[in-house]
Amino acid sequence: MTKYKLEYIWLDGYTPVPNLRGKTQIKEFDVFPSLEDLPLWGFDGSSTKQAEGHSSDCVLKPVAVYPDGARTNGAIVMCEVLLPDGSPHPSNGRATILDDPGAWFGFEQEYFFYKNGRPLGFPEAGYPPPQGPYYTGVGYRNVGDVARKMVEEHLDLCLYAGINHEGINAEVAKGQWEFQIFGKGSKKAADEMWVARYLLLRLTEKYGVDIEFHCKPLGDTDWNGSGMHCNFSTTYLRETGGKEYFEKLMKAFEENREEHIAVYGPDNHMRLTGKHETASIHEFSYGIADRGASIRVPHSFIKNDYKGYLEDRRPNSQGDPYQIASRVLKTIASVPTGSSVSAAA
Ligand code: ADP
Ligand code: MN
Ligand code: MN
Ligand code: MN
Repeated sequence: MTKYKLEYIWLDGYTPVPNLRGKTQIKEFDVFPSLEDLPLWGFDGSSTKQAEGHSSDCVLKPVAVYPDGARTNGAIVMCEVLLPDGSPHPSNGRATILDDPGAWFGFEQEYFFYKNGRPLGFPEAGYPPPQGPYYTGVGYRNVGDVARKMVEEHLDLCLYAGINHEGINAEVAKGQWEFQIFGKGSKKAADEMWVARYLLLRLTEKYGVDIEFHCKPLGDTDWNGSGMHCNFSTTYLRETGGKEYFEKLMKAFEENREEHIAVYGPDNHMRLTGKHETASIHEFSYGIADRGASIRVPHSFIKNDYKGYLEDRRPNSQGDPYQIASRVLKTIASVPTGSSVSAAA
């Protein structure tokens, strides 16, 4: 038997966006535990805005388990929060995602490294040279001397955990980076995004560096904000699609614009200005290969007779991927698939 360090992690009840929380319990197993081996656990919800002091127990229900490369015999256990009666806690966004194994999501997480209250690499006063060379850049002048080390270590931790990490790139602003995660199944990419965020936050503790997930940390300047583009497809979109269905789907997205914006991350009006490769927050638009549209339709989608995936560019870096996936699938589910004119005759 081996003693495993199980880090149970969950999302707290803070709004508009939850924070990650985690605590460790030690359990003995013969081999690395699978989900079925992991017991429910609990925590004091009165300290996480999830309960009142007089009745403060909340339940942690394991939903996914990952090897933890930073600890000997470690595991990260992603959990949903339940009420004592076993029903989902109101803060549990994951429980609101429609189950659909055919739904695929790809999230592109942008973020800033921050140190001493400013982006890593910014001088104490004023600004570094304007953006231009930083995106996908190389060299000390562009990326400094520690960002790449953290990014690479994070990548290794994600791969070790079995997260379907797809890549990294230095972003447009100095100190800004991106990574992408793709998953098949309506909850998989969102689970892995939260675990990847956890690994990144924990990693940077030892560097004395913070992660700034806010979508526009430098305010109304010529420095880019951070998004978390949501690429999505369903079995129907990939295999049947068609122009008529696509147009109905875009109409549903337009009609639900406010519901989408409500869960696409706080302060998005600061980022979705129509500048810096964004669309205005007040209008819904789509366009082929258009990075200034709400939804970008890849060239491949049109070439493939309106089949494939779409990119919603509005979700921001601070958005909760559970709430985003949940909303996207709700809107998709509101659009009837297939033709009502059957070939029965
Ligand atoms: P860009 O920066 O040009 O928008 P990226 O390569 O950073 O492109 O991101 C594209 C994302 O689209 C990736 O996360 C990828 O996994 C995702 N993606 C590709 N095909 C599909 C699909 N069929 N369904 C959902 N997401 C997809
Ligand atoms: Mn990208
Ligand atoms: Mn990007
Ligand atoms: Mn993108």
